[in-house]
Amino acid sequence: MELLEQYICKNGAVKEGDVLKVDSFLNHQMDVGLFAEMGKEWKRLFADAPINKILTVEASGIGIACVAAQEFGVPVVFAKKAQSINIDGEVYASKVQSFTHRRVYDVIVSKRFLTPDDHILIIDDFLANGCAVNGLIDIIEESGATLEGVGIAIEKGFQEGGKLLRERGVRLESLAIVDAMDAATGGLTFRH
Ligand code: 5GP
Repeated sequence: MELLEQYICKNGAVKEGDVLKVDSFLNHQMDVGLFAEMGKEWKRLFADAPINKILTVEASGIGIACVAAQEFGVPVVFAKKAQSINIDGEVYASKVQSFTHRRVYDVIVSKRFLTPDDHILIIDDFLANGCAVNGLIDIIEESGATLEGVGIAIEKGFQEGGKLLRERGVRLESLAIVDAMDAATGGLTFRH
């Protein structure tokens, strides 16, 4: 998506450790006009899928998921990050290795909000190694719901998450794919 690539080039910053900082428009300050265009693009890409719910993970997926949900006319459920799980049978749970914080956390979704009748689109801001998305897929599988696809704002194509999901047959639509980035020069290469 050209508009998103322009935002990344103009406002993004490449940091050490394969981190792309986009906090001026995506995951700290949020450009809602851009989000609206992203939502329209995901709607176009998944127009044929019978999506009735969007699933994301707190915190930075929530904003884009909500704006996308307006396009789809469906509710958003966000998986909550839990410090420790109280396994009381009321929640679906999975473990996620955080790329940016380098620790493992539990994500939980109430069983009330995911059922075998649901057709889910996962939305998230970044795809790196795929841990966050895989945690959400585990939860969807546990619930018996159907995964219709995954919509990502920025995929880092030099990390393995996207490749592994595509190999598994997951329908993955990333609005921008960064194939290379250089912290020294700030240079970025996009896949087209
Ligand atoms: P994964 O679970 O695919 O390894 O990483 C995805 C998650 O880590 C995203 O939800 C995002 O919050 C965070 N993340 C991964 N890479 C980056 C990055 O380059 N920049 C930022 N800002 N967040 C990232």
